[in-house]
Amino acid sequence: MKLSNRVQALAESATLAVTAKAAAMKAQGIDVLSFGAGEPDFDTPQNVKDAAIAAITGGKTKYAKPAHGIPEAKAAVCTKLKRENGLDYEPSQVIVTAGGKMACALAIQALIDDGDEVIIPVPYWVSYPEMVKLAGGVPVYIEGNDKNDFKITPEQLASAITPKTRMLIFNSPSNPGGFTYSPDEVKALAAVTAGKDLVVLSDEIYDRLLYGDQKFISFAACSPQAYAQTLTVNGGSKTYSMTGWRIGYVAGDAAIIKAMAKLQSQSTSGACTFVQHGLAEALTGSQDTVVKMRAAFEERATRIHARLNAMPGVTCNRPTGAFYVFPNVSGAYAKLGVKGSVEFAAKVLEEAKVAVVPGIAFGSDDHVRFSFACSMEQIDAGLDRVAKLLG
Ligand code: GLU
Repeated sequence: MKLSNRVQALAESATLAVTAKAAAMKAQGIDVLSFGAGEPDFDTPQNVKDAAIAAITGGKTKYAKPAHGIPEAKAAVCTKLKRENGLDYEPSQVIVTAGGKMACALAIQALIDDGDEVIIPVPYWVSYPEMVKLAGGVPVYIEGNDKNDFKITPEQLASAITPKTRMLIFNSPSNPGGFTYSPDEVKALAAVTAGKDLVVLSDEIYDRLLYGDQKFISFAACSPQAYAQTLTVNGGSKTYSMTGWRIGYVAGDAAIIKAMAKLQSQSTSGACTFVQHGLAEALTGSQDTVVKMRAAFEERATRIHARLNAMPGVTCNRPTGAFYVFPNVSGAYAKLGVKGSVEFAAKVLEEAKVAVVPGIAFGSDDHVRFSFACSMEQIDAGLDRVAKLLG
């Protein structure tokens, strides 16, 4: 049976693959410590669970009406985007999706035709290029440099834009880099995109996970032009530890949002109804647990950064957001007798029983990604093992 050309050309998600492999090894009784998926170890806040349970008990178990988001969830999204991001959106400018990933996929499907160029800064989240290719688009990469915290410059962005450019995918705080653009840096990039016939897909799923004195600005908040051309994506997974609930949202130009809703109506019929009630509570209820989780992530960020930097052959940038570090481990390749990030990750898994994601999946073969959305005990135990291996 022949698989479609589209699917044959598609790479498997490396983040999910590493996580599944670590889980399978654990199920076999192997003591693996996984730094794979970006999945918070905290439980979903109780108020959010209670809201979803009440929705189930109250019979909110039918199709979401409308499919692109129940009014309560859309109103909560508008409240959040105003309160935290200073953005004014109407419910008609919002759809609720089965995770932030679905929001990104719908945006790309709605906007990209064969041969259209999509600018993606490197390192990038594994799924962006594959989503673009699936739509027939052409990823155009801008190389970040770890000496500059991987951030792209306005000059690099300007020279990557061609008449075929339809989209810039922007992700700050970054997965996998753990870096965050300052408000001035985002504004400088927005000054380049202003007036260009392109959409900025701004994946802001880590907007509340900031460390040190790092500040955040939404791309859409940079200027009226940026507001008009930006799709702002976010969701419950990272901020509210709701990964398994699959709930996200996107806000932007009403005509694009309507097109995305049409696509959604012909694919998933939207996000789960009672989960949308959970999202509404997450966004509008007490934010105390978010504050606590963020503080815990910051302590972990400090620890993992210091420990990785102390290892021979490893250099690691200080994480200012999200819950990832993306150390350059190429200085350890010769010692381990490995040729790139895939072999490095395989060696670390085999010999130290520590799961990390090879950097090549994010566009750099000199790096690997550690997620520190796990306990401090696991960070210490895992890094003890890696340190022993690297000598
Ligand atoms: N976004 C998370 C990660 O990068 C979850 C897995 C995925 O969807 O990629 O690990």
